[in-house]
Amino acid sequence: MTNRPVRVRFAPSPTGPLHMGGVRTALYNYLFARQHGGAFLLRIEDTDSHRFVPGAEEYIIESLRWCGIEVDEGVGVGGPHAPYRQSERREIYLQYAEQLVRDGWAYYAFDTPQELEAIRKEYESRGETFAYNYAVRTRLATSLALPEAEVQARIARGDQWTIRFRMPENETIEMEDMIRGHVTVNSSTLDDKVLYKSADQLPTYHLANIVDDYLMEITHVIRGEEWLPSLPLHVMLYRAFGWTERMPQFAHLPLLLKPTGGGKLSKRDGDKLGFPVFPLQWKPQDGGEGARGYREDGYFPEAFVNLLALLGWNPGNDHSEILSMEELIQLFSLEKVSKSGARFDPEKAKWFNAQYLHRKSNEELAALFLPVLAERGHGDVPVEKVERIMGLVKERATFITDLWELSRYFFEAPETYDPKAIAKFWKDDNPEHLQNLRHQLEVVEEFTAPMLEARAHEWIEANGLPMGKVMNTLRLALVGASTGANLFDIAELIGRPEFLRRIERAHEVLG
Ligand code: GLU
Repeated sequence: MTNRPVRVRFAPSPTGPLHMGGVRTALYNYLFARQHGGAFLLRIEDTDSHRFVPGAEEYIIESLRWCGIEVDEGVGVGGPHAPYRQSERREIYLQYAEQLVRDGWAYYAFDTPQELEAIRKEYESRGETFAYNYAVRTRLATSLALPEAEVQARIARGDQWTIRFRMPENETIEMEDMIRGHVTVNSSTLDDKVLYKSADQLPTYHLANIVDDYLMEITHVIRGEEWLPSLPLHVMLYRAFGWTERMPQFAHLPLLLKPTGGGKLSKRDGDKLGFPVFPLQWKPQDGGEGARGYREDGYFPEAFVNLLALLGWNPGNDHSEILSMEELIQLFSLEKVSKSGARFDPEKAKWFNAQYLHRKSNEELAALFLPVLAERGHGDVPVEKVERIMGLVKERATFITDLWELSRYFFEAPETYDPKAIAKFWKDDNPEHLQNLRHQLEVVEEFTAPMLEARAHEWIEANGLPMGKVMNTLRLALVGASTGANLFDIAELIGRPEFLRRIERAHEVLG
């Protein structure tokens, strides 16, 4: 165990929009850092220039900001270990690769990609798979096979080379993972990974990642399960550098799975079933295919964070599923992260959003809804009125935009009338009853819901009329359908003149 102050990092590669699984990794790192009073770093791992995508880094930063995941140190923020973008740290890495060569933990390899491809094909033609490992490294064009003078001559004349890690043969590598426990692997099953390439004078992911975690004094590496196969190499690199004492603790997070359970949650699943798999909308700068995002689809960031946190972790049955960032920080524990993949349920995601919407005050909702209303040409409605309307309809809404369909009749008279409701209620004596009721309500002194309700009930009962039918006929006239909020609230909010107009109009249109 380490007594160093907790320092964790989120280390994405800017290869495209950040998947929601990536956001969850950032979130767990952040929760862990905050819980321990530690630091959360953002490091951009952009040493693979072939996979670099313009705009991706900005997208990552904006996604974290939207989620309320605050970066203490890193790209966009700075800090004592700056720069935090690996492409700006390139001169740091070569000396570390060379140190490993000197100490016998790594070697130069001179095979070109074409030569390697040819060897691979040759193996395949014999039905074997080629691995660059202990069995072949002394027989290929490497500094382990060639005379020292030739190695130096090749480097001097500018031949391309790579530095590869010399994975020991037949050794049991022991690893601890905070989620998976003790893991072992035999080193002979691992190949000699490239650490550095002369062609672009850049380290590969493995070298840059370990060197930077060490230099940035990272204490815990919390990352996706897809990196578990790299762990033996990383543990060996710490050993090779003599940094074992300061090796971070590792935690590999379970995958996010498709709604159907089988396989990793992909953009295609989202497209097929109609949900986003990215936090924000993505519009590639090259004009290629974009993707929808939770933000633009109308999710609240708090709801998104809440639902992400519970994909692969839960605080136990004594706690509500609705948890704020503060509560998540208090309750989170890596030990309770599950080992198996977490199935994503888009309906549950909507449920979370609805919960957050229902918990918002009428004032907050009105503020969010006013722009929608203005777009519909009702920018002049008094805020207090909109607030009251929010209180009447919010329980049925999942997104802010739903509020329009749910409350439209408060702002606009119905243009059409639901045929089913017509068939059911606009018949027998009902239209006539409605006319008579209208005369009763027209003259109510205070045109308020309680007054209107009292008068309507009194009159309907006194005349022995069917309450439900008369009320639904009135509803058809005011709303155009059999749905909506309490009728008398509607009447009060649209006001006496509009109330009378709508009843008139229903008679005109429906006869
Ligand atoms: N750059 C790696 C990624 O894109 C980081 C993996 C790690 O956290 O070690 O996920």
